[in-house]
Amino acid sequence: KTFAELGVCVELVEACESLNWKIPSKIQAEAIPYALEGKDLIGLAQTGSGKTGAFALPILQSLLEHKSPFFACVLSPTRELAIQIGEQFEALGSGIGVKCSVLVGGVDMVQQALSLGKRPHIVVATPGRLLDHLTNTKGFSLRTLKYLVLDEADRLLNMDFEKAIDDILKAIPKERRTYLFSATMTNKVNKLQRACLRNPVKIEA
Ligand code: AMP
Repeated sequence: KTFAELGVCVELVEACESLNWKIPSKIQAEAIPYALEGKDLIGLAQTGSGKTGAFALPILQSLLEHKSPFFACVLSPTRELAIQIGEQFEALGSGIGVKCSVLVGGVDMVQQALSLGKRPHIVVATPGRLLDHLTNTKGFSLRTLKYLVLDEADRLLNMDFEKAIDDILKAIPKERRTYLFSATMTNKVNKLQRACLRNPVKIEA
């Protein structure tokens, strides 16, 4: 199937073409139709599977229908991955006016706070730094968030981000869509999934 046949809108099909994404990867083909139906997702997928597109395209499509700041937040275990996810959102969304902020450790907080002041649609972050901004950056909140993505959930939990994730969950609406991606389904991932997803559909790369 093509992206259009999965239900992806014209603007985003064009964005995929501009990245030379000709056909959807397996995880994209499985995830996108359910995501566009409004389901929560558990995706078993590794880096390289195209999982970023699997969650970015439905989020961007929903954003296009109702553009609002702080629309989606992606939690990533590492800086490098967060930066890569931010780049994919920019690549897919820049043509349609989507703004994205990446919040990771080791970078000046003030610089990041300025970026948040521009009211981006998408925030990609490592949990510790996101919590730091939620606590200390004046005027920044995720109380209007519509989508949460927990990327590489097994690694998020191995890296002791449990407490930070817990605090972040308290700072965002319960009424939202949640996508959890993980390479493995560990007990901890299952527990997290039960705590923050609602009737999820399980898909595999
Ligand atoms: P990811 O697994 O999300 O980290 O993506 C791995 C790489 O595959 C990235 O460089 C993407 O740009 C690329 N990619 C994602 N989806 C597609 C697709 N449908 N066709 C070709 N390349 C893709």
